[in-house]
Amino acid sequence: MTAALETVDVSCVFQVNQGFMKGSKPLRAVNGVSLKIPKGQVVGLVGESGCGKSTMASILLGLQEPTSGEVLYSGESAGSFDGKDIARRIQPIFQDPYSSLNPTKSIHSIVSLPLRIHNVGDPADWDRKVYDILDLVGLPRRVAQSYPSQLSGGQRQRVAIARALIMRPEVVICDEPTSALDVSVQSQILNLLQDLRQELGLTYLLISHNLAVVEHMADRVAVMYLGRIVEEADADTLFRDPRHPYTKALLGSVLTPDPSLGVPDTHLGTVFPNPIDPPLGCSFHPRCSACMDICSAQTPMPVTEGDHMTECHLYAPQEAVAV
Ligand code: SF4
Repeated sequence: MTAALETVDVSCVFQVNQGFMKGSKPLRAVNGVSLKIPKGQVVGLVGESGCGKSTMASILLGLQEPTSGEVLYSGESAGSFDGKDIARRIQPIFQDPYSSLNPTKSIHSIVSLPLRIHNVGDPADWDRKVYDILDLVGLPRRVAQSYPSQLSGGQRQRVAIARALIMRPEVVICDEPTSALDVSVQSQILNLLQDLRQELGLTYLLISHNLAVVEHMADRVAVMYLGRIVEEADADTLFRDPRHPYTKALLGSVLTPDPSLGVPDTHLGTVFPNPIDPPLGCSFHPRCSACMDICSAQTPMPVTEGDHMTECHLYAPQEAVAV
């Protein structure tokens, strides 16, 4: 099956200024990532803040040019699409509905903005489209005349979803879509996203630090650490048989009292490493309870069994770990 979205060995390197007379150092935010997002499926991309998830989202949305590698939309190189084509195919939903909606504009103006920017369809139909999409996301039509400050957090996120869907995109990049919301509202938004996916045949990339959110929705899960995908499998397999020590630590964190705090209780011992100065060998080795001698010397290669990929020396063929 052709993937709706795909990255092939994509890297993104930023030069970070180190201060007066110190020059700059490269920060490899995304490091050789190949990821397929099949049509109609939900792929979860999980990891801590700073692991490269949001840079991946920017690359897929065409907002950030990768340093190397290729992005494919429905099998065609991203280079053959302009910004408008990409916006019609892929739309984002961001974490914070407070800052992603212009407070000075009415909900009608916010939701219809993509139609006006991209001049989609007959302007005489735009009102109807706005009201149809408000119906679809479960908002009363009267909110069209309201302003963001008059709505609750959950209602604002529904507005953000309406704005993303009014272009009828094929793919939606959901970047932490519930982490700024009250716990009581989070499941309503996740259920809405799930219903919309089925009704409209959408494809989602669901970016989250929280495996519990991803477990609720994803067909497939990729776990990212310091710019690399370190484990990838279908969701059932990953939750039943996690292999990479980092995935196991993330799963442990799901049971913390307040998942919105990020990954506060992973028992990883040390803080997230500085991505400008990543550890040698396996970049997870300073935090890994299963670390072996080889881990600080040699970068693990991806090992795939069936369609379960793990990048860890524990799963390498025996001859590959001999030093
Ligand atoms: Fe831990 Fe070594 Fe596997 Fe890295 S390669 S996750 S340090 S066991």
